[in-house]
Amino acid sequence: MGKLNVAILRYLTSEDFRVLTAIEMGMKNHELVPESLAAQIANLRYGGVHKLLKELCRHRLLSYERGKNYDGYRLTNAGYDYLALKVLAQRGTVTSFGNQIGVGKESNIYIVANDDGDSACLKLHRLGRTCFRNIKSKRDYHQHRKSPSWLYLSRISATREYAYMKALYDGGFPVPKPIDFNRHCVVMELVEGGPLCGVHKVDDVGLLYDELMNLIVKLGNHGVIHSDFNEFNVMITNSGKPILIDFPQMISTEHVEAATYFERDVKCVRDFFKRRFAYESELYPTFHDILREDCIDVEIKASGLTKQMEKDLLKEMGMIEVEDEETEDECSENASEEDKSTDESEINCVQLQVENSVRSEFMCTSKETFVNAKVNGK
Ligand code: ADP
Ligand code: MG
Repeated sequence: MGKLNVAILRYLTSEDFRVLTAIEMGMKNHELVPESLAAQIANLRYGGVHKLLKELCRHRLLSYERGKNYDGYRLTNAGYDYLALKVLAQRGTVTSFGNQIGVGKESNIYIVANDDGDSACLKLHRLGRTCFRNIKSKRDYHQHRKSPSWLYLSRISATREYAYMKALYDGGFPVPKPIDFNRHCVVMELVEGGPLCGVHKVDDVGLLYDELMNLIVKLGNHGVIHSDFNEFNVMITNSGKPILIDFPQMISTEHVEAATYFERDVKCVRDFFKRRFAYESELYPTFHDILREDCIDVEIKASGLTKQMEKDLLKEMGMIEVEDEETEDECSENASEEDKSTDESEINCVQLQVENSVRSEFMCTSKETFVNAKVNGK
């Protein structure tokens, strides 16, 4: 993806955003959103919507596609980006856009700045794109059902990342300061430095090794496991301090496979230090080193994520096995029940806002009202 043209934000009208939002909502239950449904959700005249849809396609924020049974519109990555950026811009957390500084496995990373000109890091989550993890179980999974949409997965991923980052930051862990999030976008402190994978020389290798192992254990003592702790997800600041990033796949120490993930994190650090610095130590933690008695659940404020949503994400990431079909079907029924009620309330909410002509371009923001939840979901 090229550079985002944020200037477009200024030219798009509130009606444009109303139509984009309508397509976003329609996509919860439809792969392609027919024009009539878009008009109904947007609560605009049919003819008026047609012109707006055409124009949004011209800007490549929507695409028009032919389906098996009917034709319709879908949001493009850029369309979804603009919906989120519009909200972040209005909140003043992202007002200007800089260079792309990274392409992760499942994200695009940009430098941005706020109203006051302070720099920050923007992570756009892109799940359900190309994920080569867990191919077998995914193949089986997809045989029986439609794959969860990228819209849905990317939003859960960002929400989960923000929630964990906030809990860790508040708990004094060395992670970027979380600033804001919307949909699939997370805004966080910009780490001045680079990922550990680019570091070939450090002053005290043993000290850095100990710091990283202590960090893994301290996370465990607080009831969580990073689960992707490696040289790509540890940044080293210009003053040599490690900062941990990338949290969507974090799990609880109560997870059935907690020991496996804990020990894999430890092994990643050991392997890297051996490979890069020819450093080996007899001392390394095991899952049993976690201080159970001190195990305080990190108190996080999760934003309306249901158990099913977290499960869908972890499945996509290959973190949990796909259960047998029966359970699956049960889950899907529950999920669709849930989806339906959310849909209706969201539509009502947006229409109410539209009628009041207040922030009509917003999705219902109440979904991001934080409620208290615990990392372990206990
Ligand atoms: P992914 O989930 O796709 O792996 P990451 O969160 O690991 O994404 O980020 C990918 C890359 O972007 C990192 O390796 C790092 O180079 C850069 N990056 C991520 N977060 C920050 C940040 N807060 N400050 C500076 N660079 C960052
Ligand atoms: Mg990463």
